[in-house]
Amino acid sequence: MNRIGIMGGTFNPIHIGHLLLAEWVLDALQLKEIWFIPTGNPYKKRASELVSGDERYHMTTLAIQNNSHFKCLDMEIRREGYTYSYETLELLKEKYPENDYFFITGADCLFSIDSWKYPERIFQCCTLVAAVRDQVSIKEMEKQKLRLEQKFSLDCQKIVLFPFIQLPVSSTEIRQRISKGQSVKYLIPENVLSYIKEKGFYSEVSFEKTAESNEKSTGCQAV
Ligand code: NAP
Repeated sequence: MNRIGIMGGTFNPIHIGHLLLAEWVLDALQLKEIWFIPTGNPYKKRASELVSGDERYHMTTLAIQNNSHFKCLDMEIRREGYTYSYETLELLKEKYPENDYFFITGADCLFSIDSWKYPERIFQCCTLVAAVRDQVSIKEMEKQKLRLEQKFSLDCQKIVLFPFIQLPVSSTEIRQRISKGQSVKYLIPENVLSYIKEKGFYSEVSFEKTAESNEKSTGCQAV
């Protein structure tokens, strides 16, 4: 079986936290590749701050272009309607049954996954790898892992708590800094930063334009 990491994310925009987490999991769990999958229309995100799927996909491909173990898939951005992780993982399982999947997430997901759509189907398709960071204690994460294992009758290897470092970077912070004209150098790859500047993403003006076009293409109102 090929051991494949799945790094799903809104990637609005992708940053060093995502890249480093993927690289360290690849190395530690001896995975063959990591597949980055930018979300299509994530139902919990503010449409007004969301750059289009095509553009987030493009930024992600730029960010990973020098790593031969990293790939970017457009399957979620091509899907109509809201995208759910269980659907993506089931599609991958069906298309490439020879692969063993490791769904890589930060700490937060461990505490929210049971409110996602069909979490039991997610666990049927993959091992969940949750990064342990300083802001959530390992004790709390272990407790939650046990709770999920009991709730979904999981083998204790289905959830891996992955020790990671505290990298205080988030896409929200990056967008805020850009909108205030502050530097985000070194937080995101140089080529992604050039692309953001070229396109004028995350400035106040572009938020307004994005909200308008998201409304037209999805029929969803910005919230
Ligand atoms: P995101 O904000 O772009 O982040 C992607 C991942 O990177 C998250 O797991 C996040 O963990 C982690 N991360 C961000 N900053 C980090 C840092 N500094 N250090 C280490 N890790 C960091 O994407 P997202 O919106 O959370 O979505 C993640 C995945 O969950 C996507 O595949 C999405 O489709 C899926 N999801 C599915 C459902 C559903 O199926 N119903 C619902 C929600 C999300 P943290 O969240 O801990 O920051």
